[in-house]
Amino acid sequence: VDYHLQKIEESKHLNAFLEVYTDEALAAAALVDQKIADGTAGKLAGLVVGIKDVICHKDHGVQAASQILEGFESQFSATAIERLLAEDAVIIGRQNCDEFAMGSTNESSSFGPTLNNVDNERVPGGSSGASAVAVSADLCQISLGSDTGGSVRQPAAFTGVVGLKPTYSRISRWGLIAYASSFDTIGILSKNVADAALVLEVIAGEDEFDATVSRKGVPAYSQNLTLEEGKKLKVAYIKETVESEHLNADIKANTKAKIEALKAQGHEVVAVDFPLLEYLLPTYYILTTAEASTNLARFDGVHYGYRSDKSVDLESLYKQSRSEGFGREVQRRIMLGTFVLSASYYDAYFTKAQKVRRLIKEATEKIFEDYDFLLMPTTSTPPAKIGDYTEENVLEMYLGDIYTVQANVVGMPAISIPNGVDATGLPIGLQVMANKFEEEKMLAFSKYLS
Ligand code: GLN
Repeated sequence: VDYHLQKIEESKHLNAFLEVYTDEALAAAALVDQKIADGTAGKLAGLVVGIKDVICHKDHGVQAASQILEGFESQFSATAIERLLAEDAVIIGRQNCDEFAMGSTNESSSFGPTLNNVDNERVPGGSSGASAVAVSADLCQISLGSDTGGSVRQPAAFTGVVGLKPTYSRISRWGLIAYASSFDTIGILSKNVADAALVLEVIAGEDEFDATVSRKGVPAYSQNLTLEEGKKLKVAYIKETVESEHLNADIKANTKAKIEALKAQGHEVVAVDFPLLEYLLPTYYILTTAEASTNLARFDGVHYGYRSDKSVDLESLYKQSRSEGFGREVQRRIMLGTFVLSASYYDAYFTKAQKVRRLIKEATEKIFEDYDFLLMPTTSTPPAKIGDYTEENVLEMYLGDIYTVQANVVGMPAISIPNGVDATGLPIGLQVMANKFEEEKMLAFSKYLS
Protein backbone atom coordinates (compact mmCIF):
# COMPACT_ATOMS: atom_id res chain seq x y z
CA VAL A 1 0.00 0.00 0.00
CA ASP A 2 2.86 2.37 0.85
CA TYR A 3 4.42 1.67 -2.52
CA HIS A 4 1.24 2.32 -4.47
CA LEU A 5 0.37 5.45 -2.46
CA GLN A 6 3.82 6.76 -3.33
CA LYS A 7 3.24 5.95 -7.02
CA ILE A 8 -0.15 7.68 -6.96
CA GLU A 9 1.50 10.75 -5.46
CA GLU A 10 4.15 10.80 -8.20
CA SER A 11 1.54 10.34 -10.94
CA LYS A 12 -1.00 12.98 -10.02
CA HIS A 13 -0.67 14.60 -13.46
CA LEU A 14 -2.30 11.50 -15.00
CA ASN A 15 -5.57 12.35 -13.21
CA ALA A 16 -6.34 8.67 -12.68
CA PHE A 17 -7.81 8.79 -9.18
CA LEU A 18 -10.77 10.94 -8.15
CA GLU A 19 -10.24 10.03 -4.53
CA VAL A 20 -7.51 8.13 -2.67
CA TYR A 21 -8.41 6.41 0.60
CA THR A 22 -4.98 6.85 2.18
CA ASP A 23 -5.75 6.36 5.88
CA GLU A 24 -8.32 3.69 5.29
CA ALA A 25 -6.04 1.70 3.00
CA LEU A 26 -3.16 1.90 5.47
CA ALA A 27 -5.43 0.75 8.29
CA ALA A 28 -6.77 -2.10 6.16
CA ALA A 29 -3.22 -3.12 5.27
CA ALA A 30 -2.23 -3.22 8.94
CA LEU A 31 -5.23 -5.43 9.64
CA VAL A 32 -4.28 -7.75 6.78
CA ASP A 33 -0.72 -7.98 8.16
CA GLN A 34 -2.22 -9.09 11.45
CA LYS A 35 -4.40 -11.68 9.73
CA ILE A 36 -1.42 -13.00 7.79
CA ALA A 37 0.47 -13.37 11.07
CA ASP A 38 -2.55 -15.18 12.57
CA GLY A 39 -2.91 -17.41 9.54
CA THR A 40 -6.47 -16.20 8.90
CA ALA A 41 -5.87 -14.06 5.82
CA GLY A 42 -8.08 -14.46 2.74
CA LYS A 43 -7.22 -15.43 -0.79
CA LEU A 44 -6.52 -11.84 -1.91
CA ALA A 45 -4.70 -10.75 1.24
CA GLY A 46 -3.14 -7.36 0.60
CA LEU A 47 -4.08 -7.13 -3.07
CA VAL A 48 -4.26 -3.41 -3.82
CA VAL A 49 -7.37 -2.62 -5.86
CA GLY A 50 -8.69 0.58 -7.43
CA ILE A 51 -12.30 0.90 -8.51
CA LYS A 52 -13.89 2.74 -11.38
CA ASP A 53 -16.26 5.48 -10.27
CA VAL A 54 -19.34 3.50 -11.34
CA ILE A 55 -19.09 0.82 -8.66
CA CYS A 56 -20.74 1.44 -5.29
CA HIS A 57 -18.70 1.18 -2.13
CA LYS A 58 -20.54 1.67 1.14
CA ASP A 59 -20.02 5.08 2.80
CA HIS A 60 -17.82 6.26 -0.07
CA GLY A 61 -18.57 8.76 -2.78
CA VAL A 62 -19.56 7.41 -6.18
CA GLN A 63 -20.65 9.65 -9.03
CA ALA A 64 -19.96 8.04 -12.41
CA ALA A 65 -17.63 10.99 -13.03
CA SER A 66 -20.75 13.13 -13.36
CA GLN A 67 -21.86 16.36 -11.73
CA ILE A 68 -25.38 14.99 -11.42
CA LEU A 69 -24.18 12.72 -8.60
CA GLU A 70 -22.21 15.45 -6.87
CA GLY A 71 -21.87 14.71 -3.17
CA PHE A 72 -23.56 11.30 -3.44
CA GLU A 73 -22.40 8.56 -1.09
CA SER A 74 -23.38 4.94 -1.49
CA GLN A 75 -25.28 3.26 1.34
CA PHE A 76 -24.22 -0.21 0.27
CA SER A 77 -21.40 -1.98 -1.53
CA ALA A 78 -21.51 -3.73 -4.86
CA THR A 79 -21.42 -7.51 -4.49
CA ALA A 80 -18.05 -7.55 -6.29
CA ILE A 81 -16.65 -5.15 -3.68
CA GLU A 82 -18.06 -7.17 -0.78
CA ARG A 83 -16.37 -10.28 -2.18
CA LEU A 84 -13.01 -8.56 -2.67
CA LEU A 85 -13.07 -7.26 0.88
CA ALA A 86 -14.14 -10.63 2.27
CA GLU A 87 -10.90 -12.05 0.81
CA ASP A 88 -8.86 -9.20 2.33
CA ALA A 89 -8.15 -7.10 -0.73
CA VAL A 90 -7.38 -3.45 0.07
CA ILE A 91 -9.27 -0.74 -1.81
CA ILE A 92 -7.03 2.23 -2.44
CA GLY A 93 -9.40 4.65 -4.13
CA ARG A 94 -11.90 5.40 -6.87
CA GLN A 95 -10.90 6.11 -10.41
CA ASN A 96 -11.82 8.62 -13.09
CA CYS A 97 -13.80 7.43 -16.16
CA ASP A 98 -16.01 8.69 -18.94
CA GLU A 99 -19.24 10.12 -17.55
CA PHE A 100 -21.64 7.22 -16.89
CA ALA A 101 -19.14 4.99 -18.75
CA MET A 102 -20.12 6.58 -22.06
CA GLY A 103 -17.10 7.16 -24.21
CA SER A 104 -13.89 5.72 -25.60
CA THR A 105 -11.33 8.25 -24.43
CA ASN A 106 -11.98 9.15 -20.78
CA GLU A 107 -12.52 12.73 -22.00
CA SER A 108 -16.22 12.86 -21.16
CA SER A 109 -15.45 12.82 -17.43
CA SER A 110 -16.61 15.94 -15.61
CA PHE A 111 -13.27 15.77 -13.77
CA GLY A 112 -11.18 16.25 -16.90
CA PRO A 113 -9.37 13.65 -18.99
CA THR A 114 -7.00 10.99 -17.70
CA LEU A 115 -3.68 10.94 -19.54
CA ASN A 116 -2.24 7.78 -21.06
CA ASN A 117 0.81 6.93 -18.96
CA VAL A 118 2.67 5.53 -21.99
CA ASP A 119 2.33 8.81 -23.91
CA ASN A 120 0.88 11.74 -21.96
CA GLU A 121 -0.42 13.45 -25.09
CA ARG A 122 -2.70 10.55 -25.83
CA VAL A 123 -5.95 9.29 -24.37
CA PRO A 124 -5.87 6.10 -22.30
CA GLY A 125 -9.06 4.87 -23.98
CA GLY A 126 -12.37 4.60 -22.23
CA SER A 127 -14.53 4.44 -20.50
CA SER A 128 -12.36 2.61 -17.91
CA GLY A 129 -9.31 4.58 -19.09
CA ALA A 130 -8.12 5.63 -15.66
CA SER A 131 -8.56 2.08 -14.31
CA ALA A 132 -6.25 0.82 -17.05
CA VAL A 133 -3.71 3.61 -16.50
CA ALA A 134 -3.72 2.85 -12.77
CA VAL A 135 -2.68 -0.75 -13.38
CA SER A 136 -0.25 0.10 -16.16
CA ALA A 137 1.47 2.84 -14.11
CA ASP A 138 1.56 0.69 -10.95
CA LEU A 139 -0.86 2.87 -8.99
CA CYS A 140 -2.62 -0.33 -7.90
CA GLN A 141 -2.37 -4.02 -8.75
CA ILE A 142 -5.90 -4.58 -10.00
CA SER A 143 -8.70 -2.31 -11.12
CA LEU A 144 -12.37 -3.14 -11.35
CA GLY A 145 -13.90 -1.45 -14.37
CA SER A 146 -17.07 -1.93 -16.36
CA ASP A 147 -17.48 -3.06 -19.95
CA THR A 148 -20.64 -2.34 -21.92
CA GLY A 149 -19.08 -2.17 -25.38
CA GLY A 150 -15.35 -2.49 -24.79
CA SER A 151 -14.65 -0.17 -21.90
CA VAL A 152 -12.30 -2.59 -20.15
CA ARG A 153 -10.65 -4.17 -23.21
CA GLN A 154 -9.97 -1.06 -25.29
CA PRO A 155 -8.18 0.90 -22.51
CA ALA A 156 -6.28 -2.28 -21.61
CA ALA A 157 -5.03 -2.41 -25.22
CA PHE A 158 -4.08 1.28 -25.17
CA THR A 159 -2.03 0.99 -21.97
CA GLY A 160 -0.48 -2.47 -22.37
CA VAL A 161 -2.37 -4.39 -19.70
CA VAL A 162 -4.86 -7.27 -19.56
CA GLY A 163 -8.58 -6.42 -19.69
CA LEU A 164 -11.17 -9.12 -19.04
CA LYS A 165 -14.87 -8.86 -19.82
CA PRO A 166 -16.61 -12.01 -18.59
CA THR A 167 -19.82 -13.54 -19.92
CA TYR A 168 -22.86 -11.32 -19.33
CA SER A 169 -24.35 -12.40 -15.96
CA ARG A 170 -21.13 -14.06 -14.72
CA ILE A 171 -20.51 -11.27 -12.17
CA SER A 172 -23.36 -9.70 -10.23
CA ARG A 173 -24.24 -6.18 -11.39
CA TRP A 174 -25.57 -5.29 -7.94
CA GLY A 175 -23.99 -1.96 -7.11
CA LEU A 176 -22.81 -1.21 -10.63
CA ILE A 177 -24.30 2.08 -11.85
CA ALA A 178 -26.23 1.10 -14.97
CA TYR A 179 -25.42 2.34 -18.44
CA ALA A 180 -27.14 -0.31 -20.63
CA SER A 181 -28.33 -3.11 -18.39
CA SER A 182 -28.47 -5.91 -20.95
CA PHE A 183 -24.86 -5.19 -22.00
CA ASP A 184 -23.14 -4.11 -18.76
CA THR A 185 -20.56 -6.29 -17.07
CA ILE A 186 -18.03 -5.60 -14.36
CA GLY A 187 -14.57 -6.28 -15.78
CA ILE A 188 -11.06 -6.74 -14.46
CA LEU A 189 -7.84 -4.94 -15.40
CA SER A 190 -4.58 -6.56 -14.38
CA LYS A 191 -0.91 -6.92 -15.26
CA ASN A 192 -1.30 -10.58 -16.27
CA VAL A 193 -3.87 -13.26 -17.03
CA ALA A 194 -3.30 -15.17 -13.78
CA ASP A 195 -4.26 -12.16 -11.64
CA ALA A 196 -7.44 -11.60 -13.65
CA ALA A 197 -8.35 -15.29 -13.26
CA LEU A 198 -7.91 -15.16 -9.49
CA VAL A 199 -10.01 -12.03 -9.08
CA LEU A 200 -12.74 -13.38 -11.38
CA GLU A 201 -12.94 -16.53 -9.31
CA VAL A 202 -13.51 -14.43 -6.18
CA ILE A 203 -16.11 -11.98 -7.51
CA ALA A 204 -18.14 -14.14 -9.94
CA GLY A 205 -21.20 -16.20 -9.16
CA GLU A 206 -24.70 -16.37 -7.85
CA ASP A 207 -26.11 -13.40 -5.95
CA GLU A 208 -29.57 -12.89 -4.51
CA PHE A 209 -29.39 -9.16 -5.26
CA ASP A 210 -29.14 -9.51 -9.04
CA ALA A 211 -31.97 -11.41 -10.70
CA THR A 212 -30.04 -11.69 -13.97
CA VAL A 213 -26.86 -13.21 -12.55
CA SER A 214 -26.02 -16.80 -13.49
CA ARG A 215 -26.37 -19.60 -10.96
CA LYS A 216 -23.71 -21.65 -12.68
CA GLY A 217 -20.91 -22.74 -10.38
CA VAL A 218 -17.67 -20.76 -10.54
CA PRO A 219 -14.64 -22.81 -11.64
CA ALA A 220 -11.27 -22.34 -9.95
CA TYR A 221 -10.03 -20.30 -12.91
CA SER A 222 -6.65 -19.57 -11.35
CA GLN A 223 -5.93 -23.29 -10.91
CA ASN A 224 -6.64 -24.23 -14.50
CA LEU A 225 -4.50 -21.92 -16.56
CA THR A 226 -2.59 -24.51 -18.54
CA LEU A 227 -3.84 -25.86 -21.83
CA GLU A 228 -4.11 -29.60 -22.17
CA GLU A 229 -0.71 -30.94 -23.29
CA GLY A 230 -0.50 -31.30 -27.07
CA LYS A 231 -4.10 -30.19 -27.67
CA LYS A 232 -4.63 -28.64 -31.10
CA LEU A 233 -6.99 -25.69 -30.99
CA LYS A 234 -9.41 -24.43 -33.59
CA VAL A 235 -9.25 -20.67 -33.85
CA ALA A 236 -11.32 -18.47 -36.15
CA TYR A 237 -10.89 -14.87 -37.14
CA ILE A 238 -13.35 -12.76 -39.06
CA LYS A 239 -11.58 -12.01 -42.32
CA GLU A 240 -12.41 -8.28 -42.47
CA THR A 241 -11.22 -7.65 -38.91
CA VAL A 242 -7.68 -8.66 -39.80
CA GLU A 243 -7.55 -7.80 -43.52
CA SER A 244 -9.36 -4.44 -43.39
CA GLU A 245 -7.64 -1.56 -45.15
CA HIS A 246 -8.73 0.64 -42.25
CA LEU A 247 -6.71 -1.39 -39.79
CA ASN A 248 -3.51 0.32 -38.65
CA ALA A 249 -0.51 -1.32 -40.36
CA ASP A 250 1.42 -2.20 -37.18
CA ILE A 251 -1.67 -3.63 -35.48
CA LYS A 252 -2.33 -5.68 -38.62
CA ALA A 253 1.24 -6.96 -38.72
CA ASN A 254 1.30 -7.94 -35.04
CA THR A 255 -2.06 -9.70 -35.30
CA LYS A 256 -0.99 -11.62 -38.38
CA ALA A 257 2.30 -12.57 -36.75
CA LYS A 258 0.35 -14.07 -33.85
CA ILE A 259 -1.86 -16.01 -36.27
CA GLU A 260 1.19 -17.37 -38.08
CA ALA A 261 2.84 -18.33 -34.80
CA LEU A 262 -0.26 -20.27 -33.77
CA LYS A 263 -0.32 -22.08 -37.10
CA ALA A 264 3.35 -22.93 -36.74
CA GLN A 265 2.54 -24.46 -33.35
CA GLY A 266 0.10 -26.79 -35.09
CA HIS A 267 -3.18 -25.06 -34.31
CA GLU A 268 -5.85 -24.58 -36.92
CA VAL A 269 -6.42 -20.88 -37.56
CA VAL A 270 -9.06 -20.09 -40.17
CA ALA A 271 -10.54 -16.93 -41.66
CA VAL A 272 -14.35 -16.94 -41.53
CA ASP A 273 -16.99 -14.68 -43.05
CA PHE A 274 -19.28 -12.65 -40.86
CA PRO A 275 -21.67 -10.73 -43.10
CA LEU A 276 -23.34 -9.03 -40.13
CA LEU A 277 -20.16 -7.15 -39.20
CA GLU A 278 -21.47 -3.83 -40.49
CA TYR A 279 -24.55 -4.11 -38.26
CA LEU A 280 -22.62 -4.48 -35.00
CA LEU A 281 -22.15 -0.79 -34.25
CA PRO A 282 -25.65 0.40 -35.26
CA THR A 283 -27.20 -2.38 -33.17
CA TYR A 284 -24.97 -1.55 -30.22
CA TYR A 285 -25.57 2.21 -30.33
CA ILE A 286 -29.35 1.96 -30.85
CA LEU A 287 -29.90 -0.50 -28.03
CA THR A 288 -27.45 0.96 -25.52
CA THR A 289 -28.70 4.53 -25.94
CA ALA A 290 -32.28 3.27 -25.57
CA GLU A 291 -31.40 1.47 -22.34
CA ALA A 292 -29.34 4.42 -21.13
CA SER A 293 -32.18 6.87 -21.67
CA THR A 294 -34.42 4.84 -19.35
CA ASN A 295 -31.70 4.00 -16.83
CA LEU A 296 -30.73 7.65 -16.48
CA ALA A 297 -34.31 8.84 -16.03
CA ARG A 298 -33.86 8.35 -12.29
CA PHE A 299 -31.42 11.25 -12.10
CA ASP A 300 -34.10 13.89 -11.83
CA GLY A 301 -32.73 16.37 -9.32
CA VAL A 302 -34.95 14.86 -6.63
CA HIS A 303 -33.72 11.37 -5.81
CA TYR A 304 -29.95 11.70 -5.99
CA GLY A 305 -27.12 14.18 -5.88
CA TYR A 306 -27.31 17.44 -7.76
CA ARG A 307 -30.32 19.76 -7.79
CA SER A 308 -30.36 23.02 -9.70
CA ASP A 309 -31.19 26.10 -7.68
CA LYS A 310 -32.50 27.87 -10.78
CA SER A 311 -35.80 26.01 -10.95
CA VAL A 312 -39.18 27.61 -10.37
CA ASP A 313 -41.46 24.56 -10.56
CA LEU A 314 -41.24 20.77 -10.79
CA GLU A 315 -40.88 20.66 -14.56
CA SER A 316 -38.04 23.18 -14.56
CA LEU A 317 -36.41 21.40 -11.62
CA TYR A 318 -36.07 18.26 -13.74
CA LYS A 319 -35.01 20.19 -16.80
CA GLN A 320 -32.49 22.47 -15.12
CA SER A 321 -30.98 19.77 -12.93
CA ARG A 322 -30.50 17.40 -15.86
CA SER A 323 -29.23 20.11 -18.22
CA GLU A 324 -26.68 21.33 -15.70
CA GLY A 325 -25.81 17.96 -14.17
CA PHE A 326 -25.24 15.83 -17.29
CA GLY A 327 -22.39 16.50 -19.73
CA ARG A 328 -22.65 16.69 -23.53
CA GLU A 329 -21.99 13.02 -24.34
CA VAL A 330 -24.53 11.77 -21.82
CA GLN A 331 -27.13 14.26 -23.06
CA ARG A 332 -26.52 13.18 -26.64
CA ARG A 333 -27.08 9.53 -25.74
CA ILE A 334 -30.21 10.25 -23.70
CA MET A 335 -31.63 12.11 -26.71
CA LEU A 336 -30.68 9.35 -29.15
CA GLY A 337 -32.18 6.74 -26.87
CA THR A 338 -35.36 8.72 -26.30
CA PHE A 339 -35.68 9.13 -30.07
CA VAL A 340 -35.34 5.43 -30.90
CA LEU A 341 -37.86 4.58 -28.18
CA SER A 342 -40.39 7.23 -29.24
CA ALA A 343 -43.76 5.96 -30.46
CA SER A 344 -43.23 6.84 -34.12
CA TYR A 345 -39.74 5.32 -34.40
CA TYR A 346 -39.88 2.43 -31.95
CA ASP A 347 -40.45 -0.29 -34.55
CA ALA A 348 -38.14 1.23 -37.13
CA TYR A 349 -35.17 1.38 -34.75
CA PHE A 350 -35.57 -0.31 -31.39
CA THR A 351 -37.53 -3.39 -32.45
CA LYS A 352 -35.42 -3.83 -35.54
CA ALA A 353 -32.18 -3.54 -33.58
CA GLN A 354 -33.41 -6.20 -31.17
CA LYS A 355 -34.09 -8.53 -34.08
CA VAL A 356 -30.66 -7.86 -35.53
CA ARG A 357 -29.13 -8.52 -32.11
CA ARG A 358 -30.71 -11.97 -32.21
CA LEU A 359 -29.28 -12.62 -35.70
CA ILE A 360 -25.81 -11.51 -34.61
CA LYS A 361 -26.05 -13.80 -31.61
CA GLU A 362 -27.04 -16.78 -33.74
CA ALA A 363 -24.31 -16.11 -36.29
CA THR A 364 -21.70 -15.83 -33.53
CA GLU A 365 -22.91 -19.02 -31.86
CA LYS A 366 -22.55 -20.74 -35.20
CA ILE A 367 -18.85 -19.85 -35.28
CA PHE A 368 -18.39 -21.43 -31.86
CA GLU A 369 -20.00 -24.67 -33.05
CA ASP A 370 -16.83 -25.21 -35.09
CA TYR A 371 -14.17 -23.18 -33.32
CA ASP A 372 -12.84 -22.75 -29.79
CA PHE A 373 -11.97 -19.07 -30.06
CA LEU A 374 -12.45 -15.96 -32.12
CA LEU A 375 -9.29 -13.91 -32.44
CA MET A 376 -9.04 -10.27 -33.53
CA PRO A 377 -7.26 -7.04 -32.74
CA THR A 378 -8.81 -5.15 -29.81
CA THR A 379 -8.66 -1.80 -31.61
CA SER A 380 -8.16 -0.71 -35.20
CA THR A 381 -5.99 2.29 -34.34
CA PRO A 382 -3.53 3.39 -31.68
CA PRO A 383 -4.91 5.74 -28.98
CA ALA A 384 -5.98 9.16 -30.27
CA LYS A 385 -4.33 12.38 -29.16
CA ILE A 386 -6.21 14.19 -26.42
CA GLY A 387 -8.70 16.54 -28.09
CA ASP A 388 -8.74 14.70 -31.44
CA TYR A 389 -12.40 13.80 -31.09
CA THR A 390 -14.79 16.73 -31.04
CA GLU A 391 -18.53 17.28 -31.43
CA GLU A 392 -17.95 17.22 -35.19
CA ASN A 393 -16.31 13.80 -35.50
CA VAL A 394 -17.83 11.92 -32.59
CA LEU A 395 -19.04 9.25 -35.04
CA GLU A 396 -15.42 8.37 -35.72
CA MET A 397 -15.01 7.70 -32.03
CA TYR A 398 -18.07 5.42 -32.11
CA LEU A 399 -16.59 3.57 -35.11
CA GLY A 400 -13.50 2.81 -33.05
CA ASP A 401 -15.59 0.34 -31.02
CA ILE A 402 -16.00 -1.97 -34.02
CA TYR A 403 -13.99 -4.88 -32.61
CA THR A 404 -15.16 -4.77 -29.02
CA VAL A 405 -18.96 -4.43 -29.19
CA GLN A 406 -19.66 -7.90 -30.60
CA ALA A 407 -18.90 -9.63 -27.28
CA ASN A 408 -21.40 -7.38 -25.48
CA VAL A 409 -24.09 -7.63 -28.15
CA VAL A 410 -23.97 -11.43 -27.79
CA GLY A 411 -23.08 -11.59 -24.07
CA MET A 412 -19.94 -13.66 -24.56
CA PRO A 413 -16.63 -13.36 -22.70
CA ALA A 414 -13.65 -11.59 -24.26
CA ILE A 415 -10.24 -10.51 -23.13
CA SER A 416 -7.59 -8.13 -24.41
CA ILE A 417 -3.97 -9.09 -23.86
CA PRO A 418 -0.86 -7.12 -24.76
CA ASN A 419 0.53 -7.98 -28.20
CA GLY A 420 3.69 -5.92 -28.55
CA VAL A 421 4.03 -2.27 -29.48
CA ASP A 422 3.87 -0.26 -32.70
CA ALA A 423 6.75 1.57 -34.35
CA THR A 424 6.33 4.50 -31.96
CA GLY A 425 6.22 2.33 -28.85
CA LEU A 426 2.46 2.46 -28.27
CA PRO A 427 0.95 -0.76 -26.93
CA ILE A 428 -1.13 -3.05 -29.17
CA GLY A 429 -3.88 -5.34 -27.89
CA LEU A 430 -5.00 -8.74 -29.10
CA GLN A 431 -8.53 -9.87 -28.34
CA VAL A 432 -9.74 -13.40 -27.69
CA MET A 433 -13.45 -14.12 -27.54
CA ALA A 434 -15.02 -17.41 -26.47
CA ASN A 435 -18.46 -18.95 -26.18
CA LYS A 436 -20.62 -18.17 -23.14
CA PHE A 437 -19.17 -19.32 -19.81
CA GLU A 438 -15.97 -20.56 -21.41
CA GLU A 439 -13.78 -18.20 -19.38
CA GLU A 440 -11.72 -21.10 -18.13
CA LYS A 441 -10.64 -22.11 -21.61
CA MET A 442 -10.29 -18.50 -22.73
CA LEU A 443 -8.02 -17.59 -19.83
CA ALA A 444 -5.81 -20.62 -20.37
CA PHE A 445 -5.49 -19.78 -24.08
CA SER A 446 -4.74 -16.13 -23.27
CA LYS A 447 -2.01 -17.18 -20.89
CA TYR A 448 -0.59 -19.45 -23.59
CA LEU A 449 -0.62 -16.50 -26.02
CA SER A 450 1.00 -14.06 -23.57
N1 GLN B 1 -16.91 3.13 -26.08
C1 GLN B 1 -18.17 2.47 -25.90
C2 GLN B 1 -19.25 3.51 -25.69
O1 GLN B 1 -18.94 4.64 -25.75
C3 GLN B 1 -18.10 1.50 -24.77
C4 GLN B 1 -18.42 2.05 -23.44
C5 GLN B 1 -18.47 1.01 -22.35
O2 GLN B 1 -18.12 -0.16 -22.57
N2 GLN B 1 -18.91 1.43 -21.19
O3 GLN B 1 -20.38 3.21 -25.51
